[in-house]
Amino acid sequence: MLMAAKTERSEPTQHPDRFLQPPLPWLQKGGAPQRRELKLFNKNGRGYACFINFAPTIIFNDMKFGTKVIHAGLSPDPSTGAIMTPIFQTSTYVQAAPGNHKGYEYSRTQNPTRTALQNNLAALENGKFGLVFSSGMGATDAVMKLLKPGDEVISTNDLYGGTYRIFTKIYSDFGIKFHFIHMENITDIEKYVNANTKMIWVETPTNPMLNIIDIAGAVSIAKKHQLTLVVDNTFASPYLQNPLDMGADIVLHSVTKYIGGHSDVVMGALVLNDEAMAARLAFIQNSCGAVAGPQDCFLVLRGIKTLHLRMQRHCENGKKIAEFLAKHPKVKKVYWPGFESHPNHLIAKKQMRDFGGMMSFTLKDDSIESAMKVLSHTHLFSLAESLGGVESLIGHPATMTHASIPKEEREKSGVTDSLIRLSVGVEDVDDLIEDLNNALA
Ligand code: PLP
Repeated sequence: MLMAAKTERSEPTQHPDRFLQPPLPWLQKGGAPQRRELKLFNKNGRGYACFINFAPTIIFNDMKFGTKVIHAGLSPDPSTGAIMTPIFQTSTYVQAAPGNHKGYEYSRTQNPTRTALQNNLAALENGKFGLVFSSGMGATDAVMKLLKPGDEVISTNDLYGGTYRIFTKIYSDFGIKFHFIHMENITDIEKYVNANTKMIWVETPTNPMLNIIDIAGAVSIAKKHQLTLVVDNTFASPYLQNPLDMGADIVLHSVTKYIGGHSDVVMGALVLNDEAMAARLAFIQNSCGAVAGPQDCFLVLRGIKTLHLRMQRHCENGKKIAEFLAKHPKVKKVYWPGFESHPNHLIAKKQMRDFGGMMSFTLKDDSIESAMKVLSHTHLFSLAESLGGVESLIGHPATMTHASIPKEEREKSGVTDSLIRLSVGVEDVDDLIEDLNNALA
């Protein structure tokens, strides 16, 4: 016999006609699930309809972050009481009559496990709409499709190599122009704004130089010129920074990193407040098909439950390791926003809740050979691409994550051949320090 979940959240947990079960039972907390049909018209006057299911996430705003990661957008499964969101491993959904369904027709368009994750992520970023993609690059690709030939984008010059690659090697060919600029002084953006500018793309902290970009400053320029401000919040995670609260239009995540947190999923996400833009992005998500699968959504929902605990430890370990490296006789420079000497430390303090576990450093013997020696002599820090997992990683941006950026371009932003990047994990920090000490010896 099916037991009704004992919770005041789920109203009718069973219905005599299974086809009439509410489509989004876990969204009933605080109000009925909302399924909205939005009719939009493009410049040619051609209309298209788009359905978005979304949680009235506003009801979660009074929860603190550590509660939201566990509860926002989620309720026990009404048919079994399962506390974990089920993996709806299905491509399609049976309809009682054509068009008579529970909000789900086909899993490229909608999937209940994905919906739960999208709503949870929206709540973590204090946004109304969440969309998840098969990778961070899939999410970036969807954002780029908001643009048209002739449009211009002003972007951070120090950014993830894959983002640089999609801009310069894919979207440049479609007539979109990119300006890569140093944004340490945010007002410099205005020098590049012209009638064709449509978007500002900010990554902060940047990968791999840990530059900090003033989000509030970028917001005021974007608002003044009616530009869309996108913030890649991957390095900070929603635990450390919420760009939508500062007025950004779209937050992007490589969920692969801190949000997933366990190095077992590749995924991307967008969170935003503007309904028309969310509908357009949902339309792009469905039309182009770079969606995240239900198994991956489940894994990320599970990972998110400890996001606050993991991030707290990443920050504590990060601080101790940055301080250890800064004092080490063989280390030349440590790039970490928690140092008062960091050029935008005060902005980091203003817009972030802590300084994170990502850092880069160079050696006094600034040769690629010395860097390679360190890279190949750590044992707990594994030499690997990626970041943000529970395990510590060490990487060489020039030959790994940023190899797609030409040498002269990457060196302009400080990505020299001897630069080493660390993603400090959540292991015991004393063991991590010993590991680095041995590799530097
Ligand atoms: N943005 C940043 C800052 C990244 O570091 C990455 C990947 O490393 C991406 C976006 C792309 O994400 P994914 O690898 O999930 O496609």
